[in-house]
Amino acid sequence: MASGDPPEPSPGAPPPGAGLCDSCRHQQVVRNTRGSAFSLCRRSRDEPERYPRYPRVPVLRCPGHEPLIR
Ligand code: SF4
Repeated sequence: MASGDPPEPSPGAPPPGAGLCDSCRHQQVVRNTRGSAFSLCRRSRDEPERYPRYPRVPVLRCPGHEPLIR
């Protein structure tokens, strides 16, 4: 697996609740070919040293969180 690829979930595991990321405008939900969902942080593009591409979920605290405006 190349770095940056979504992590492999356990077989049959439900999609993770991503905590704060689920209400953050920087979240992008990506799916692999088997339909598993992962929470990608778009802030990782500009600040990879501060924000992992796929943060460990659930994220409980994050200085970069900005509310999603629906
Ligand atoms: S900025 Fe923080 S809360 Fe928002 S998607 Fe990234 S890791 Fe999650």
